[in-house]
Amino acid sequence: NDKEKVNPENLDGYSKKHYPLCMRHMHEILRSTHHLKHRCRLQYGLFIKGIGVLYEDAMEYWKKEFTKTMDHEKFEKQYAYEFKHQYGKVGSMINYSPYSCIKIIMENVGPGDHHGCPYKHWDPSITKQKMIEQGLSSEGVNSVMEMVTSGHYQIACSRYFECTQGQAPSVVVSHPNQYFSDSMNLFKD
Ligand code: SF4
Repeated sequence: NDKEKVNPENLDGYSKKHYPLCMRHMHEILRSTHHLKHRCRLQYGLFIKGIGVLYEDAMEYWKKEFTKTMDHEKFEKQYAYEFKHQYGKVGSMINYSPYSCIKIIMENVGPGDHHGCPYKHWDPSITKQKMIEQGLSSEGVNSVMEMVTSGHYQIACSRYFECTQGQAPSVVVSHPNQYFSDSMNLFKD
């Protein structure tokens, strides 16, 4: 494993430049509300573990964010275990893997939920609006939306990658962590 350690302080920057839309959205929700619901904590928590955030750093990161709206005791009591669990430090001690796109696309996502795959689970008008806000060309937005409406979510994601990064990913996106490492590789000095 040649993964480099990722400092959580870089996640704000990475989320804008190297995250797929699903992870970027959850990162923004976390930073603006200082909370994520259970399914988000799993999907996003395992993703950042997968990109190289180490256990101790992840615990600090979650604690720092969550305790902006709750006291430390509540965090330790109600949430710390779950994040330890993601790193296989408690319970069955399984070292869980980040979710693949298929797994994320198959998730149940209800109103008010922020996990899942935007191309599959969001109202298409919201996805479109989000991409316009992020500065994609109307040509780019249309090429992504074409795949959204035909149900090819991972191709939609690959086109989003192409529009934002200037070239296609190495293969069609099948894993958010693959998206991230492809993007990081493109911008390596
Ligand atoms: Fe995330 Fe995969 Fe959906 Fe892209 S296709 S937004 S990486 S779940």
